[in-house]
Formats: sequence, structure tokens, C-alpha cells
Amino acid sequence: MTAVALPTYPHRHLLGIEGLKPDEITVLLDRSEAYVEQNRQIDKKQNVLRGRTLINLFFENSTRTRTSFELAGKRLGADVINMSESGTSVKKGETLIDTAMTLNAMRPDVLVIRHSASGAAELLSQKVDCSVINAGDGSHEHPTQALLDALTIRRRRGRLAGLVVAICGDVLHSRVARSNIHLLTAMGARVRLVAPPTLLPASAAEMGVEIHHDMRKGLKDVDIVMMLRLQLERMQGSFVPSVREYFHFYGLDAEKLAFAKPDALVMHPGPMNRGVEIDTEVADDIHRSAIREQVEMGVAVRMACLELLTRHLPNIRTT
Ligand code: ASP
Repeated sequence: MTAVALPTYPHRHLLGIEGLKPDEITVLLDRSEAYVEQNRQIDKKQNVLRGRTLINLFFENSTRTRTSFELAGKRLGADVINMSESGTSVKKGETLIDTAMTLNAMRPDVLVIRHSASGAAELLSQKVDCSVINAGDGSHEHPTQALLDALTIRRRRGRLAGLVVAICGDVLHSRVARSNIHLLTAMGARVRLVAPPTLLPASAAEMGVEIHHDMRKGLKDVDIVMMLRLQLERMQGSFVPSVREYFHFYGLDAEKLAFAKPDALVMHPGPMNRGVEIDTEVADDIHRSAIREQVEMGVAVRMACLELLTRHLPNIRTT
């Protein structure tokens, strides 16, 4: 990787996309581009985080995000430790803050946290000395997902501004949707939310987006179709009559996709519920689906975030 003067990124934590300035988002995306190329080489190792320690603290299940942060940390030369709820004293009744303070005493440089409570990452960031990255807090935000989605779109379409993006499905429970809405609107894209009224947050109308309940109308001439998982684990009560009926009205199949632009890109953050929010044929269509590419972009984005955030950490601590 060629040595370049690193752009300035002003924050030590990444807790959400809300509040980031467009040029800050651009700095993260531009740096991620360099790592996409680096990750396609045989030797992917860098020394950028040599000596640093990254702890992945996951209180909710994850395949992609946890592995992606682990790879990102290791490729940058950091020592990486993975902890899940079942392996922590939280199971024994310890609070999140006590766990965090214990880990903090071991002087990590980055804590990556996923938690079911909205605001958990922010709370943690107020208590520890290291950088904190939010890897998903309840239905609040999942900033690195929105960044990797943006990188995928920007590489395929060359820009974000002016594109029409439909975010479809369980918006109510989706931190991915919230982070994407903030990022895409900040970068000048137009966002449409396509969902049944029961799966839209009350605040949707104030988010600077268009709202559609009819999927065919919502997909009309869009550039990007971003599908969301039906988050059954977050639903108390019934939000949809049945999974079958949900697929009939809101599942993405070839017939509904035909309403979008002919070259519209299909995205999904994973994990996918095939046959619930997306048809297998569409998900696996190599000409339309960018789902695997999203996963690849995830590692690059996380490397860029780790690199730029840790530049704000002191090199020598006196306490
Ligand atoms: N993996 C994403 C998240 O953690 C999306 C999902 O779970 O549906 O929010």
C-alpha cells in the first residue's frame, strides 16, 4: 500500500452516523477505498495498529460484523480479543458498565460493542479511555454498516448524490435503516421507505424521506433497492399477519424488482431470510445483487475506521 498523507478525521469514537458531516463521511469512504485494494493482495498485513489491542464485545449474535472487525484489526496488526455475552460475567449478573470498567483497566485501545440496548455504545464511550465503535445498539444505529453500504453504492454508481434509494421492510426495528437514512440524506441521495405502516417508526415522516406502503410504487425507477431483515426477535406482538403474506406484499422478487430501474442494485445487510423479505433468485442474481460485495466492503470500511479513529488516542498514557 503506498504511503499517503492521511486525511484528518476529527473523532475518536464512532457511535452513529447522525451528526457526521458529509466531508467526514467522505474521508472514511475514501480511506476505505485504499483498503479494498489492499485486501485483494496476497499480503494483507499492515503495521498501522501494531501494539494496539482491540476488544470485540458482542452481547448479540453476529457472523459478519464480528468476523469483519476481527479481520480488520488483525490485518492492521492489532491484537484482537473476541468476547460474547455467554463468555462474560454479564451472565453472572455484572452490569455492562462494570464489564466495561474491568476491560478498560486492561488498557485496550478500541472497544467494539454490539448490544441490544439503544445508547449502549454511547454510555460505554463516556466511561472508558479508548476508542469505542458501535457495532449495532438496539434499533438505534449501526454506523459501519451504513458506511459499507455507501462504499458499495459509490463504487458501483460512482456517486451517492442524486441517487434514489428504496429502503424496504422492517424499518421500525432496523438500526441499519436508521444509519443509512442519516448517511444517504447527508450525502444528497433521496431515500424512500417502503413498509407496512406497522413496521415504520412514528418519526419516519420527520426523517426527510418519502414513505410508501405499496412496494411497486415505492420501487418505481429507484437506483438502489435495500432490503431489510424482518427482525422477528425484536417483535413483541404481531406486526405482520403472517410471513407468507409479508412476502406477498413486501418480499423482493423479480416481478416487483422490475419496477425499479433496469440496472437497479439489490442490497441486503444480512443475515437474509430467504423467502421472507427476499426471493432466492433475486438474492443470488450476480447481475443485480451486491450482497457479497457489501461483505467485502465491510472489512475495508472497518480498517479505515480503526485507523482513523485510533489516531486520536494518545501514544503514551500517564494514568
Ligand atoms: N446484521 C444487521 C444488524 O445487526 C442486520 C440484521 O441483523 O438484520 O443490525
